[in-house]
Amino acid sequence: MINISQPDLGAEELDAVREVFASNWLGYGPLTRAFETEFGEFLDVPAEHLIFLNSATSGLFLATELLGLGPGDDVVLPSVSFVAAANAIAATGARPVFCDVDPRTLNPSVGDVERAITPRTRAVLILHYGGQPGDVKAIAAHCAARGIPLIEDVSVSIASAIDDRRCGTFGDIATWSFDSRKVITTGDGGMLYVRDAALSRRAKRMAYHGVADRSAFTTASRVARRWWELDVQEVGRRLIGNDLTAAIGRVQLRRLPAFVERRRVITEMYHSLLGGIEGIRLSPPLPRGHATTHYFYYVQLDPGIRDQVAEDLLARGIYTTFRYEPLHTVPLYRADGVFPGTALAAATTLLLPIHQGLDDTDVHTVAEELIKAVEHRSAPTRP
Ligand SMILES: *Cc1c(COP(=O)(O)O)cnc(C)c1O
Repeated sequence: MINISQPDLGAEELDAVREVFASNWLGYGPLTRAFETEFGEFLDVPAEHLIFLNSATSGLFLATELLGLGPGDDVVLPSVSFVAAANAIAATGARPVFCDVDPRTLNPSVGDVERAITPRTRAVLILHYGGQPGDVKAIAAHCAARGIPLIEDVSVSIASAIDDRRCGTFGDIATWSFDSRKVITTGDGGMLYVRDAALSRRAKRMAYHGVADRSAFTTASRVARRWWELDVQEVGRRLIGNDLTAAIGRVQLRRLPAFVERRRVITEMYHSLLGGIEGIRLSPPLPRGHATTHYFYYVQLDPGIRDQVAEDLLARGIYTTFRYEPLHTVPLYRADGVFPGTALAAATTLLLPIHQGLDDTDVHTVAEELIKAVEHRSAPTRP
């Protein structure tokens, strides 16, 4: 089976884990802080504003809570979003309000976001589809002008940037994912960035039992006379990462440029193998100055054959899929409304396997089988 995505872990990660075992400190400690520092350098933001969490979903839930969302509030998000985004909004009592996306890039334009804004809109939550930065710069400017906080779900766009400014640094709060399907992984894990200093300090408390000074929980604490006393300031949860997963993350972050380069090469290969084939539409070129993570590779097919082509490929051992099933069609979030771009994207888009472990032969196999399936399914049926 050729997988759609696959982790890439090796000897270096194993060595890093071995060192953590030897240190006998598994919790949130020096390696977690080192990972946050390195991530801050990578993003070019102060490391104090970053928190290594146990998942991106934890980050999204923390973000909506930090913004004080609740009943009566609206949050705009593209219908083509991962379900965790809508869940994080709904969990506060606020209402997810969906906007349309461009049928070719599957990202919302600033106009799509603007049209969904109501007088009760208290936040906007976007992602960068498959790693394409999209209209994030204009959306961030629009939100800033209206005083509406912007949350960026950067789960799949760790290496994405516009004019060398990284995605995740355009909005007010951002969350990255290191789950096992993402470009870099820690098994489970996420990173949260909070631009505002006071809010980021609050995020740290809320990520760990509401405790202001975490040293009460560490054996290394020698500061207070009664170091077991807890300075609890508000209701918190337990969302932090640990040194074991941070150790893996540090190695993966160092390997990220090589991962993205391999994915770029695979993208180019698919483009040249599939370009000009009747019935297969390639994804649009990136605007000037945009850099992508190459998280997804997708083509667009006639809606009449897309599902059959996916089935044919699965029968040939090639896993393809579509992300993200539009949330306005999911039972819990079913919403009326006209989303023509979303509907077209959802009917035509097919994601092909892409990960740094995919070799050239696999890429050729996928392209050849796709071309065959499209030809076969497009052929007029004989009477
Ligand atoms: C994977 C993913 C998430 C959730 O990440 P976890 O770390 O598994 O919680 C959220 N949003 C998007 C766009 C994702 O792809």
